[in-house]
Amino acid sequence: MQITYVLELLKPTKKKQNIFFNNIEQVTKNRQDIASKIKANETKLTSADFKGINLPSVVINQNIREVKSLYNRFKQSNSKKENIEFKPNQPICYNNQSYNIDRHIISIPLFHNGKCQRFAFPVKQTNRLQDLKEHIENDYKLAKGSLFYKNSKWYFAVTIKLENRENKGANIMGIDIGLRQLAVASVVNTEGKEINRQFHNGKKAGFIRKKYRFLRRKLGRAKRLEKINSINNKEQRWIRDLNHKISRQLVNLAVQEHVGTIVMENLKNIRKTAKSIKKADRNINSWAFYELQQFIEYKAKLAGIKIIYINPKYTSQRCSKCGKIEKGNRKGNLYSCNCGNRIHADLNASRNIAKKYLETICLDGNSLSA
Ligand SMILES: [Zn+2]
Repeated sequence: MQITYVLELLKPTKKKQNIFFNNIEQVTKNRQDIASKIKANETKLTSADFKGINLPSVVINQNIREVKSLYNRFKQSNSKKENIEFKPNQPICYNNQSYNIDRHIISIPLFHNGKCQRFAFPVKQTNRLQDLKEHIENDYKLAKGSLFYKNSKWYFAVTIKLENRENKGANIMGIDIGLRQLAVASVVNTEGKEINRQFHNGKKAGFIRKKYRFLRRKLGRAKRLEKINSINNKEQRWIRDLNHKISRQLVNLAVQEHVGTIVMENLKNIRKTAKSIKKADRNINSWAFYELQQFIEYKAKLAGIKIIYINPKYTSQRCSKCGKIEKGNRKGNLYSCNCGNRIHADLNASRNIAKKYLETICLDGNSLSA
């Protein structure tokens, strides 16, 4: 699977824009030359065949690759035209070896003042950039990159290759998502015995939430809507970053513990928090929970782990040891049952989530050890 992230450059100076335009002009000319040579059956082309072109050789080589594949498509299309015609506004394309991303800075080679030079450009710091960096940190391979101009703005498009990794684990991870603990995971083996667990405390997130809520109210009284929007964006980015980190750690634990299935609750109606929090905060929370589940889901899939959603009914009231359902057993963070089970309430829930799935597959008669 391939994903392309289009990143907008912060407005370059006039001087740099001119360098871009000069290189784009050369790319267009170069591509047309390449197409003519291919049409004349010269197929073994290298950058050395284009001495008069003012472009870095890596760009010329990439042009050769691009035009070859475009030419094949052109031939198949049975077009009445003589050859492919390139419009003046061509992208400058790079293979994965010739461009670089460091934080929010992209560096690429361009031709300027008679030689090939490296230039660095900052891009806007967006959610998209965050997602891309998350992939890069996890060793997903960079593929093609391209600089292009559209509607008076400059963009750099980065393509990455995602490979689904194989996984043959049989263990099960139940994940409980909430406010006090953003996520609690319990890993159980096929006999239902817990072999590992992970907690993601919500204290810091709660603090940040309060801070932004306070700011929003203050600005709301002053009716500064633009400022409120900018604060909402900041809060969203902060949560997104946190969700990336939590989901990464959960999936890493799942891989480490040979988990084949991750089980989560279907949170369409967030029962746990609905009463305890104010309406205005409910939206941002349900959105954050949903995003966390989405991140867990796609990271798990890439690791070859299956995702199952179950009905959340009774997962927080039921005793994970004896199975008794008793609403009063849960008091804040503690779950305590007559049978002697005294554990963190959210860990109790995550065990129930894992077990609920384990029971359904046992009822189906599927062999777990296979
Ligand atoms: Zn019990």
